[in-house]
Amino acid sequence: MMKKMGIVQAVKSLLFQDVKSENETKKAAVILRLFAVIMWVYYLVLLSVFLVHGDVLIFEASIPCGLFYLVAFYETYRDRTKLSIGLVNVVTLAWILAIVFTIGWDSGVQHFLFVLMMLVFMTAHGKMEWKIFYAIFLCALRIGLYLYTLGHKPDFVMHQNIAIAFQFLNTIAISGIIIVSLYIYSKDSMEMENKLMVYNDKLKRMASIDPLTSLGNRRNILGYLEKKASEYTDGKISNLSVALGDIDFFKKINDRYGHECGDIVLKQLSVLMQRKLEGKAQVGRWGGEEFLFVFPECNGDEATALLSELLNDIRRMEIVYGQERVSLTMTLGVAEYDFRSGADETIKDADHKLYIGKESGRNRVVF
Ligand code: GH3
Ligand code: MG
Ligand code: MG
Repeated sequence: MMKKMGIVQAVKSLLFQDVKSENETKKAAVILRLFAVIMWVYYLVLLSVFLVHGDVLIFEASIPCGLFYLVAFYETYRDRTKLSIGLVNVVTLAWILAIVFTIGWDSGVQHFLFVLMMLVFMTAHGKMEWKIFYAIFLCALRIGLYLYTLGHKPDFVMHQNIAIAFQFLNTIAISGIIIVSLYIYSKDSMEMENKLMVYNDKLKRMASIDPLTSLGNRRNILGYLEKKASEYTDGKISNLSVALGDIDFFKKINDRYGHECGDIVLKQLSVLMQRKLEGKAQVGRWGGEEFLFVFPECNGDEATALLSELLNDIRRMEIVYGQERVSLTMTLGVAEYDFRSGADETIKDADHKLYIGKESGRNRVVF
């Protein structure tokens, strides 16, 4: 059982092996490999049916075809997908022509023209105009072949069993190739779509999150304030307050313990503020060591009370940096949102209160 699994895994990884070239997807290569494998099985079964019925005609066509498919298969591992596509097309066309000319329209191999039509659009190589031109050529060829068989009796009259085998095998092989190709194609584009979605989320995060503190950045918190401001104007929320906070003498922390310590202080303070205000307010990094707070559903007094509690926690916080224990305080200015003057004016108002707080001795909340 283990050995069986090992063989299945080995075959799978051989067929689905990526192409070495970085700017090429493996999609086309995998489709070509599976196409070659399906065609080998097709030839093998067809050959055995012909052998049973004692005719060797099919040998002349299928053995060289099988060999060329082998070359096409091999070339996909050497980053020569383009050559491989060309070979597959030439060999399949030669096979269709040879069989239709000798056995006739009833062989049904002309249906492989549709497979070629589909394959040419599934590969990244070639200009779209050429692909369309080639597809029209295949369409015309099919009509041409039909007209030819109308006027020419086949050289070889099929045994009934061979005719049946042809119908079965053509149907199975063509369905197999279509199913496999579409599966790989859609799976690949779904994977690509997922990759893009993840990448998009990452970009969005990068555009709105401050990398040092993981708080929302200035753009993000301003966006949040504007959203809440329009909810307030529409009467969806009945209160809205804003606050600006600035760490006291932060320069001294940097000067005394170093910039790295300053960064650690900013990170730990951000964790504390977020935890303390969770569900009550949003806090974002306004810039440097300044933070903007938005309190939906809080009037100025309520926001001031919450910030006073927060400030108590900040005063008690001790940040361990090597041997040092760093403590800090903050000054905060609070303003109620005024829909007549808008977000910018409210922030200015909060900034003014912050200034008053700094002037009157720091380490306080001013409303
Ligand atoms: P006060 O606000 O109490 O008046 O004094 P302060 O020393 O905090 O004032 P000031 O605004 O002059 O200094 C802020 C300092 O914050 C200056 C700057 O070097 C530092 N700073 C800004 N952003 C960062 C950062 O991301 N990391 C670190 N370590 N320091 C920063
Ligand atoms: Mg400052
Ligand atoms: Mg400061």
